[in-house]
Amino acid sequence: MPYRELYLNPQNIFLGRTTPYEEAEFALFGVPFDGTSSYLPGARFGPSLIREASCNLESFSLRSLKDAEDAKVCDLGDIAVVQGDVYQTMDRVEKVVAELNQDGKKSIMLGGEHTMTLGALRGYGRNLGIIDFDAHMDLRSDYSGQQLSHATFMRRVVDEGSDILQVGVRSICKEEYEFISQEGWNYVTALEIQREGIKKAADKIKEFQKERDRIYLTIDIDVLDPAYAPNVGNPEPGGLTPTQLMDLLEICGKVVGFDVVEVTNSGRMAAMVAAKIILELLCLIEV
Ligand code: MN
Ligand code: MN
Repeated sequence: MPYRELYLNPQNIFLGRTTPYEEAEFALFGVPFDGTSSYLPGARFGPSLIREASCNLESFSLRSLKDAEDAKVCDLGDIAVVQGDVYQTMDRVEKVVAELNQDGKKSIMLGGEHTMTLGALRGYGRNLGIIDFDAHMDLRSDYSGQQLSHATFMRRVVDEGSDILQVGVRSICKEEYEFISQEGWNYVTALEIQREGIKKAADKIKEFQKERDRIYLTIDIDVLDPAYAPNVGNPEPGGLTPTQLMDLLEICGKVVGFDVVEVTNSGRMAAMVAAKIILELLCLIEV
């Protein structure tokens, strides 16, 4: 092996290696955008922190006895975001994801703020089943006068007609509670998981998947307890453990794409656990 390959590292890419696009089964990209952040900013640094963390974890999984390195992942880099313009940035995400989907790739999006998930979902079109792991519901009709923000985007998803299952909820406003009470909303709270274990959530996930052909996973890393992932935009006590989350993700094998969002740069732990989740998913997702 030439010294330039032995002693020089490529730039910050996921797991330190990339598969050519044509051969890839997964297409990974970052969205370094945190323009609507309302509390702790820094999610724009999430993609590079998650990549850095991925290069410092072992890729072999004792959960699946597979190696994430064997997954064919093309790291495409980051979307050229327009930091002040959530609409234009989201439009770019939508266009890229639509293209990846057309090319038969499963998308992996590194956030960035959660709002960008709406762009990815639009890229996949309608009739999608969405499994959303999040401390929050993000279902406000507007927030501080904004129709489109990290606190409202899931309401826009509802407006556009996709089905959603929310897991790990523990932070909700009165407006959201009234909304989900009227609609017969499909969700499992973090409190139920902490008190009764993951069985109810696991059953709901299985049932949700059974009824739908195309599943998209979105993981707002604040679904984890701040003890495990403190570096997030809106930390919320009383969350899941990484093991509980990964046990639930293990049931989600048939997905068209997924994202991990809201990792900020106030430390390394949220990025480490985000990278770990992606490595496990690369072993678990059927291609
Ligand atoms: Mn969220
Ligand atoms: Mn959240």
